[in-house]
Amino acid sequence: MAAIQRLSTSVVNKIAAGEVIERPASVVKELVENSLDAGARRIDVAIEEGGAQSIRVVDDGCGVPAEELPLALASHATSKITVADDLFRVATLGFRGEALASIAAVSRFRIRSRPRGAEAAAVLETVGGEAAPIEPAAGPVGTTIEVRDLFFNTPVRRKFLRTPSTEAGHVSEAVARLALSRPEVGFALVHNGRQVWDLPPTTLLERIGQLFGSELVGGLLAVEHRDGDLALGGYVANPSHSRPHNRLQYLLLNGRFIRDRSLQHALGEAYRGLLLTGRHPICFLRMDMPPESVDVNVHPTKLEVRFQDGGRVYSHLLAALRTRFLATDLVAVGRLPEGAATPRAAAPLDGPPTGPPTGPSAELVRWAQRELHREQHAAWDEAPPTAAPAESRLEVHRVELPPAARDAPPRPPADAPHRRDAAHGHRPAALQIHNRYLVLETSAGLEIIDQHALHERILYEALRDRVLAGGLETQRLLAPEPVEVSAAEAAAAAEYGDLLRQVGLEVAPFGGETLLVSSYPAMLRRLRPADAVHAVLEPLLSAGRRPQIRDLIDELLHMMACKAAVKYGDPLTDEEIAALLAQRHLAQDHHHCPHGRPTALVFTREQLDRQFKRI
Ligand code: ADP
Ligand code: MG
Repeated sequence: MAAIQRLSTSVVNKIAAGEVIERPASVVKELVENSLDAGARRIDVAIEEGGAQSIRVVDDGCGVPAEELPLALASHATSKITVADDLFRVATLGFRGEALASIAAVSRFRIRSRPRGAEAAAVLETVGGEAAPIEPAAGPVGTTIEVRDLFFNTPVRRKFLRTPSTEAGHVSEAVARLALSRPEVGFALVHNGRQVWDLPPTTLLERIGQLFGSELVGGLLAVEHRDGDLALGGYVANPSHSRPHNRLQYLLLNGRFIRDRSLQHALGEAYRGLLLTGRHPICFLRMDMPPESVDVNVHPTKLEVRFQDGGRVYSHLLAALRTRFLATDLVAVGRLPEGAATPRAAAPLDGPPTGPPTGPSAELVRWAQRELHREQHAAWDEAPPTAAPAESRLEVHRVELPPAARDAPPRPPADAPHRRDAAHGHRPAALQIHNRYLVLETSAGLEIIDQHALHERILYEALRDRVLAGGLETQRLLAPEPVEVSAAEAAAAAEYGDLLRQVGLEVAPFGGETLLVSSYPAMLRRLRPADAVHAVLEPLLSAGRRPQIRDLIDELLHMMACKAAVKYGDPLTDEEIAALLAQRHLAQDHHHCPHGRPTALVFTREQLDRQFKRI
């Protein structure tokens, strides 16, 4: 090994650049953040060849005095903090004093700046961090920075750059994040002379529309929630608007775009049961809290932060969204065939969904409620149909649920009346077609319901409420029964014995691949013990990792609801149809089956009129 020596500034800056400047998009992010910190009202970004060839950021901010230009480019030089304590009350986007030094170290760099009140602008140019003398120049108030040939002197880095269009994509994402964080500032992005975005100053909602289109805006719900010094505001998408990826999740903390696994998890929790597996929620949320309650200095690019009280922030977000969803009728909007006029959201998302409510006859409702009651209890209590253990061998126990499993949203008052035109009370409540779908005239238009999905949701909620209210009942076998299982099932039973006991399944190894069952969840009492054991073990095998107790219970609820619900293909009588429709408003979310598929599609009359070219 060679003798120890101090690294030159140029090497130090290149190392620092490696941390913060990964690609052209990182340069754009740092430069635009500086412009925002400088109070700019308008920021123009222009890049060539994805930014690898050149990046130019022009702002109308406060500018840098000529004599301070060398300092702006020096590392650890900043105008934003002075003492270490300032780190805990950072109100600007930057504070590390490293970005310009890092960028200049790995590019041909030029800054021209003119502070308000100065006679003229001044220019400073560097090549790989080596500065030329400062020159006076003409130019408007504000700052223009040009970065050419990024990584020209770090060839390995340069090789890592992707195609210009990929890099341009990263740049536009960086600009979008910043543009969302400051809708009151105007932004423009130009790539190879072609305008990508021109975003005049506006509100957050319109900014979202400028960036992502008005269709998405039509599916947004406003969120507003405050808890002491924690404030949350912005928009989340109706579950009918989701994405196969989580990139449309914009969380802004004190005006800074962040990625936070725990908050993403809270978001997922809030949408639990509302989205199909593999679909992700969309959100544009702004959280504000005192700067000292969050540490932004944990990550060089400041993308990740550390909360003083992460748990509180998590529950704040979850509570805000749950409250919002409970207050919303989440209607799945019908999609018209390709080429048709884009459907307007069938129902205004904030108002009553289908015009003035009209009620069915009171008698019909009473009858339907009796039916519901009967049905719910049937799903739970009914004696097993075949080959099930005889009553004398059973004993029912109640087990307390662990707190995590009980944490579910409260149920709203079941007072929403079933909406149907009373004048049509004598007609069938809906028309069943293909023994699968119910077609229904509503005051706003037309609704098509998936009979299985709807019934499954209603039963699922009824079962869930029972579990949440009373704990999970277990069925104890007076004489333990041997059950043959696969080697994998035996292994899962041994590994997750504690979890299984919590849902009421008690098994003991009985030599070879045999388990001795002494109790199982009462909600599975329709099943033979062997089938109940397979049913509980199945999700453990497919999970691939230790599931949460809540997820396991949820799986079982899904399975029961699915088994008990009317099938896709079952013919229904008019009375059964009426009962099913009357029950739907007793479910908290009757628009999605427990797997998140929609239970109903809605077509407004206007959509139909449009399709038939009547307007
Ligand atoms: P930081 O933003 O962390 O302070 P930078 O290296 O990004 O560090 O910038 C160094 C300093 O240069 C800033 O503190 C600021 O005073 C000045 N500066 C950089 N860009 C601009 C700009 N666009 N307008 C005005 N001042 C700027
Ligand atoms: Mg900065």
